[in-house]
Amino acid sequence: MVDKNQTAKTISLEKYGINNAKVNYQLSSQELHNQTLEKGQGTEANSGAIAVNTGEFTGRSPKDRFIVKDDVTRDKVWWGNINIPFPTDMFDALYDKVTAYLSEKELFVRDSYACADEDYKLNIRVINEYPWSNMFAHNMFLRPTEEELTTFDPEWLIVNAPGFMADPEVDGTRQHNFAILNFTKKIALIGGTGYTGEIKKGIFSALNFILPVDKNTMPMHCSANVGENGETAIFFGLSGTGKTTLSADPKRKLIGDDEHGWTAENTIFNFEGGCYAKVINLSEENEPDIYHAIKPGAILENVIMNENGVVDYEDTSITQNTRVSYPIYHIDNIQQPSIGKNPKNIFFLTADAFGVLPPISKLTPGQAAYHFISGYTAKVAGTEEGINEPTPSFSACFGAPFMPLHPTAYAEMLSDKMQKAGVNVWLVNTGWTGGPYGVGNRMKLKYTRAMITAALQGDLNGVAYEKHPIFGLDVPQECTNVPSEILNPKTTWKNKKAYDIQARELAASFKDNFAKFREYANEEILAGAPTEA
Ligand code: ATP
Ligand code: MN
Repeated sequence: MVDKNQTAKTISLEKYGINNAKVNYQLSSQELHNQTLEKGQGTEANSGAIAVNTGEFTGRSPKDRFIVKDDVTRDKVWWGNINIPFPTDMFDALYDKVTAYLSEKELFVRDSYACADEDYKLNIRVINEYPWSNMFAHNMFLRPTEEELTTFDPEWLIVNAPGFMADPEVDGTRQHNFAILNFTKKIALIGGTGYTGEIKKGIFSALNFILPVDKNTMPMHCSANVGENGETAIFFGLSGTGKTTLSADPKRKLIGDDEHGWTAENTIFNFEGGCYAKVINLSEENEPDIYHAIKPGAILENVIMNENGVVDYEDTSITQNTRVSYPIYHIDNIQQPSIGKNPKNIFFLTADAFGVLPPISKLTPGQAAYHFISGYTAKVAGTEEGINEPTPSFSACFGAPFMPLHPTAYAEMLSDKMQKAGVNVWLVNTGWTGGPYGVGNRMKLKYTRAMITAALQGDLNGVAYEKHPIFGLDVPQECTNVPSEILNPKTTWKNKKAYDIQARELAASFKDNFAKFREYANEEILAGAPTEA
């Protein structure tokens, strides 16, 4: 860790086309915290964490994420409205404008890397306009030692200019903000948005291309932890389904909360060096590990505080997507380095706002592949503009926005690995019970945790199972520390007929969504579909 000693090394940015900048290289977390305060870009919470507002954008902007289409990417990337092509010459022109904008400015530069496994290390140089964005990079990427820094050779470059506004007519962007990946030049160019998540997800998207294409490694949008017996568990899921929350388990060592690779050598490793947790409704009682990680070094985003620096985690007046980033060592029980063995258990997390899916069920290999390709969760009112009632949301591989290749490329790798590793795959509904959103309630966190613990301890091996009549899932009828009546969703609904209607509707959405993947799926996977719709 380079936290306390500032390196004497300075670097020049002229080779990047950034001239006469005042470069703050590799500042410590404390220095970046202080600079943020001095520049009036943040305030200190009573926990000692810094709190910033990310500005116009408080979430990622998937429609403004582009990939440069050239010889490296042309035939490999799955082009469409997720991976939007950007012309090489337009990239070069925009890059020149951004670097001209950054010239003469005071900038924050840090060298860091992704991938906790030495053999997969990706060195990254991050150039930020703002100190808190650079502190985010310190928190979220891995931190080279002093010694490693002396010979550091950056492979990828992130240029992050939130204050630069593109002119869509001239620059070829959709609007003034953009995040563009260039695999040939190995540059992530981010402008017009201060949302820090773009920085980490840019590198995640890059690795989702590099690792399967060059390194025979399966990249995954999942969290991971390891039990006392050394067994690894991984948790896939879309935003808000509980990856970060459920992987922070005081009894298990945290490997990482969001992005991992599964190697051909039967290991998994974290891409990152920190966590990025949602803090909406955060409480010390429900999420003690995350709560206590909020201390000096952490960055709170878009929260509301009173004059004493007390954060009101219930206040969503800026956004529902309030966040905190912190280096992984802010969590007490961590695995170091962030590497684990082949997982024994895989959890697919879904926040089903229709209250249809069982809170836990066991998947056959065919169902596992089917649900992985489907990547279902639901969006509820308030999280996105224009969403007033729950809507099903399908995102292949539980992370389509970050996957440059065709989803089946990832699904095939996962199926193959799952079979070889002989894993148990569980579908966990962290969403609604007792009715849909508006009628029922969100599953209690303590019950979800108990179900996961039971699965991990093997407690669900000897119990009776029932097949869900519409989804065909195997549903355990008993679970340690969980009332049996909540295990079957239909029994939690007052109106059983309404349940059946809702369940059939959801099954029909699964089938509609899967239509585009049918031609790639074999019999076994197709048999993993809902049995009735
Ligand atoms: P992202 O990909 O955006 O980081 P994530 O999968 O890590 O999302 P979390 O940050 O863990 O999601 O968010 C889950 C949210 O849901 C938290 O705010 C958590 O408190 C809340 N929650 C409520 N009930 C449950 C439950 N039963 N299981 C998991 N999370 C729950
Ligand atoms: Mn998360």
